[in-house]
Amino acid sequence: MDGRASHQQAKNGIIMAGRVYIVGAGPGAADLLTLRAASLLRAATIVLHDDLVPAEILELCPASAQIVNVGKRCGRHSRSQAQINALMVWHARETEAQTIVRLKSGDPAVFGRLGEELDALRRAGVEFEIVPGVTAASAAAASAKITLTDRRAASALVVVTAHNARNEPLSKTMSGPARPTYAVYMPGPDYAGTAKGLVESGHEPATPCAVVSNAGRADEAVRYLTLAELASVTEIPAPALLIVGEVAAEHPLQRRQDLLSEISTQSLPKGREPNHYDRLPIYPSLG
Ligand code: SAH
Repeated sequence: MDGRASHQQAKNGIIMAGRVYIVGAGPGAADLLTLRAASLLRAATIVLHDDLVPAEILELCPASAQIVNVGKRCGRHSRSQAQINALMVWHARETEAQTIVRLKSGDPAVFGRLGEELDALRRAGVEFEIVPGVTAASAAAASAKITLTDRRAASALVVVTAHNARNEPLSKTMSGPARPTYAVYMPGPDYAGTAKGLVESGHEPATPCAVVSNAGRADEAVRYLTLAELASVTEIPAPALLIVGEVAAEHPLQRRQDLLSEISTQSLPKGREPNHYDRLPIYPSLG
């Protein structure tokens, strides 16, 4: 499939799902948006955005685009996460929308409830692309004129939320059985040494990892493996970033994108936006 969303009926009655672009809006200034984000917004037909996205950025969208605030603070129109998931899937599968943009502040994958949205898209067989953005931590450090990883003072950066889904107080997050993800910069070329260091610091050898080379570039490459396997990798192109933790496990549906992009939607309601989200059909699970 090329970079553009497609929504076409094939001869055998199978409908090719459209593509949802999950786009990071950055910290709020339009000129901190990526060029990729800006061009997707200029081409957007549907934009589902969060509260923190300012009007200045939404103004990039064409006048014909349907712009929907699905933010939690959007007064009585606020939508539940399940409703947002259903809206994304519905627009991808049931409307003529060519470019569906799910716009989130900062980086969409940092405290953006993205996990639930990806699960919904995968279950529905909707293809998606994630466009990263400048996260608040980077923007805040720049505003404060500091570096978060000044090598003379820090060799790690922990990203944490004071409001977690389990309603645990920050003190518990910091001292209790926190489940951090580690984004290890400069992990190579001695991957065996890096893996050894992680195991010696208490990680199980079975801990999932993802090594991402050339992220965001045309020649990007992702390898999913365990810490034990990491010890023997060779020929990882640089630059690479290592992600360690449960979140780095390869999603079971990820390997089946070809199949996922061709799911019959004949049983779905046609032609109108669902007003009873909880009545949306359960999409077949291909796990
Ligand atoms: N995905 C976003 C974070 C969403 S959580 C990101 O990557 O930045 C929302 C929180 O992010 C806010 O409560 C605030 O703590 C922080 N935040 C977002 N934009 C910000 C900004 N411009 N300045 C400071 N903090 C910001």
